[in-house]
Amino acid sequence: MRTKDQFFSNKNITVTYSPTRCINAERCAQELSSVFRQSVIPWIDLEGDSDENIISQVKKCPSGALQFSLNKKQAS
Ligand code: SF4
Repeated sequence: MRTKDQFFSNKNITVTYSPTRCINAERCAQELSSVFRQSVIPWIDLEGDSDENIISQVKKCPSGALQFSLNKKQAS
């Protein structure tokens, strides 16, 4: 079983998953299965829905295993 934190990023956000905090309630997979996938690797696909919906679902994680941060914008 993996115990190290895992990081997933798209253009705008980074989601962190901490396996040691997860209580396996499966809320994320049941409520946003296009992003939090149970039988696919990598199991979090940040292209699966809008940033707003992903952030909303991360905030519902009951254990705090899921966290998010906004990526810094690159200066152009
Ligand atoms: S919602 Fe949080 S605690 Fe529940 S399975 Fe997903 S990561 Fe784990």
